[in-house]
Amino acid sequence: MRSTSENPPTALARTALELAAAHDSAATHRLYRELHAHPELSGAEHRTAARVRAALRAEGIDCTEGVGGTGVVGVLANGPGRTVLVRADMDALPVAEDSGLPYASTVDGVMHACGHDAHTAMLVGTAQALARGRRHWSGTVVLVAQPAEETGAGALAMRDDGLHRRFPLPDVLLAQHVSAGPIGLVAHVEGPVLAASASIDVVVHGRGGHGSRPDTTTDPIVIGAAIVGRLQSIVAREIAPRETAVVTVGRFHAGTANNVIPATAELGLTVRSTSRECQARILAAVQRIVRAECEAAGATAAPDIRVVKSMPATVNDARVARNVAAVHTRMFGGDRIVDPGPAMGSEDFSELALLPNGQTRPYHYWFLPSTPLAVWNAAPGRSPMARFGNVPSAHSPDFAPDPAVLDHGVAAMTGAVLAELAIDPVKR
Ligand code: ZN
Ligand code: ZN
Repeated sequence: MRSTSENPPTALARTALELAAAHDSAATHRLYRELHAHPELSGAEHRTAARVRAALRAEGIDCTEGVGGTGVVGVLANGPGRTVLVRADMDALPVAEDSGLPYASTVDGVMHACGHDAHTAMLVGTAQALARGRRHWSGTVVLVAQPAEETGAGALAMRDDGLHRRFPLPDVLLAQHVSAGPIGLVAHVEGPVLAASASIDVVVHGRGGHGSRPDTTTDPIVIGAAIVGRLQSIVAREIAPRETAVVTVGRFHAGTANNVIPATAELGLTVRSTSRECQARILAAVQRIVRAECEAAGATAAPDIRVVKSMPATVNDARVARNVAAVHTRMFGGDRIVDPGPAMGSEDFSELALLPNGQTRPYHYWFLPSTPLAVWNAAPGRSPMARFGNVPSAHSPDFAPDPAVLDHGVAAMTGAVLAELAIDPVKR
């Protein structure tokens, strides 16, 4: 019997910790090491999906595979109430692992360098904790193992394949991501947490010729250089100082020999911002500048400008963020909850929150710092931000989260689901 004088978040926190402690932690760690050793690229998560499906079915959870490619959806129905969707991504990256871990990748040039193996294992662990603790909550949990986050295609593919038509509509969506930073913390941000991003390919069409006779050519390298320079003025001169935005040209290829003016030049851009409006403004400016520079140089053909990948901004719902952070504060202690502010990385998680009728459901996405304490303490830098830049980050070949983050993450997600679906502990 629980004391009825305990306030609800404290009672919830206690229940969440009990449920998380009762899940099969050894199995979660085994699954994590296995997934880490066998990473699969975006859209090819066949083995991973099979493992998720088997683990969910072992808990008696209804499971559908092949949703949006290799996506897996488990539905844990547990009486009347709201529906919470919990999402983990499954894909790895084309990175050659250099972590030195005993369970390092066995696949050449492919690595779980973004920790999606940990997210997948934590999803399965959370499902187990919730399935075994059904008497503590009421409602429905939709468990989503999503393919292809890194390419920005997976969430859209699941939505297009009827995620919201074939499975219960979510009232709230939750996701978590490992990150650099000392293990044990949970990083919660209200409002914008991750940037909108777009990847843009540009081909400038000039006229090639001899390097000694530029007057007979239209030099695409000079046009490209002018474009690169002018693009820098978008953030500086067209975006309000209160907005956060980035325009980077990460790729500029042209030419084959010193004495040949090539016919074309290729540029690759990445654009980041923290709102849909700002993103639209930047994309319009990029198009205008690229076209105008080509015209200014007298290029005969219009440039090709193609948005090859785009992800929306991730904007956490204030109510859900506060509700989840309150339970995490009771679970882990107030000194473990930090607010790092928005980051300029991007995610496709928020695509899952968009319903077929155009409505968006509230969601919350938080970070689980996972740098082993020994690595964190040995990193140069006196301030946490300085150290943050000196420990292996996601997407680097030596990214090696502390496996203790698995139990931490199962507890954090279990607590978050209970925060939304628990039976009122006072009434129980
Ligand atoms: Zn990533
Ligand atoms: Zn990631």
